[in-house]
Formats: sequence, C-alpha cells, structure tokens
Amino acid sequence: QGPVVAVDGPAGAGKSTAARRMAERLGFLYLDSGAMYRALALKALQHGVDLRDETQLLHLLDMTRIELDGAGHQKPLVLVDGQDVTRLLRSPEVNASVSVVAGFPRIREEMVRRQREMSRAGHVIMDGRDIGTYVLPSADLKFYLTASLEARAQRRLQDLTGMGFPADLAELAEEIRHRDALDSERAVGPLKQAPDAIYIDTTDMEVDHVVDMMLSIYRQ
Ligand code: C5P
Repeated sequence: QGPVVAVDGPAGAGKSTAARRMAERLGFLYLDSGAMYRALALKALQHGVDLRDETQLLHLLDMTRIELDGAGHQKPLVLVDGQDVTRLLRSPEVNASVSVVAGFPRIREEMVRRQREMSRAGHVIMDGRDIGTYVLPSADLKFYLTASLEARAQRRLQDLTGMGFPADLAELAEEIRHRDALDSERAVGPLKQAPDAIYIDTTDMEVDHVVDMMLSIYRQ
C-alpha cells in the first residue's frame, strides 16, 4: 500500500486547496471527503427528502454513486450518479444543510466505508474533519490546519464571489461558526485534532507557503 496523508481542520482553514496542491506536487490522488457529504445534502435537497430523516437519507445514499474525480483536472470534479455537480456543492443551501446530514451516525458509517475503500491503494491525500482520528487513523502523516474565524470567513467570501455566488462576510462568519459547532459536537467522528497530527495555523500564511511546509515535513 502507498502512503496516505490525512488533512483535518475546521471550515475554511484552507485544507482543500493545500491538500489538492500537495497531491498535485506528489502525483497523489486528492480525496475531498466533505464533497461526499455535500453531494448527499445536494441530492436530498433536489429530491425533497426530509433532511432530518436519517432512514430516508440512508436509503437515498444507498442509491447514490459519488465519484471524486481527481485525475487530470485543475479542479477535481465531483460526480453524482455520473453528473458533474462540482459547482452546486458550494451553494448556500448546501452549506446550510450539510452538517445536519453529516451528523447522522449511519450516514457517517457508510461514508467512512466508502472513504476507506477509495483510499485503499494509498498514494492519497484525504481532507475532512475526522480523517486522522477516525477514517484513516493509521495514516502515515497527519495535518491539522486551522485559522482565525475572521480569516476563514474572508477566504470563503473570496471563493464564493469568485464562483459568482453573492455573499456577506458577517453572515459567512456566522455560518462557519455554526457549522464548526455542529461538527465538533457530534458523537461519531467529531472535528478533532489527532494526537499525532501536525498543527498549522494558516491565519497569516499564503497557501503556497502552507503547501511548501507540508511537503517539506512529508519529505523529512
Ligand atoms: O470540508 P467541507 O467544508 O466541504 O465539509 C462540509 C461539511 O461536511 C462539514 O461542515 C462537515 O459537516 C461534513 N464533513 C464531515 N466529515 C468529514 C468531512 C466533512 O462531517 N470528514
């Protein structure tokens, strides 16, 4: 099995950009575990499934194929049942509902099963909330990336406006704070730093610097 790198941290800490670039530099597969929860939330919204009903959501998940297509793209694509939904996953509606969907233990169990399966061959970098603690506890290297709430809200604002979604800084900060609270409080797979994870505060760092730092640690 090839090397496995886990990257965890709260919303907007720059995990996905850093993990994706690190994967590019190493020729690894980048796996965005959050995109899988987002994909289910999106499909549930589209099909009018009650987001509070775990059994219905689980049934929906059983009928849903989620592919993280990291290869050969500048930005990895997320395919749900063969359709490219990458852009839709960042919508305000999905942001507002994803942590509720991700809070159900049986949904997490199935997602984690799929995540372990996808990373089985190694040469992967997976980012999320519980990768180093729960999904891939024996990963070869673990990072925990964080940043101040203000910096994280700023980054989300730039991402969203860049994608054509109107957004407000104060609202984004509130949404991130709320999502962090839900993500930290859940019983199964809460957001938590693994004891053996390397902690990086990215508040005052450019993403390229973060990636260089992660790569030099990887190569040590
Ligand atoms: O990383 P991203 O912000 O796209 O994740 C969206 C949401 O998916 C998180 O706020 C969290 O509720 C959920 N998630 C999770 N476990 C992961 C990754 C994401 O619960 N490993």
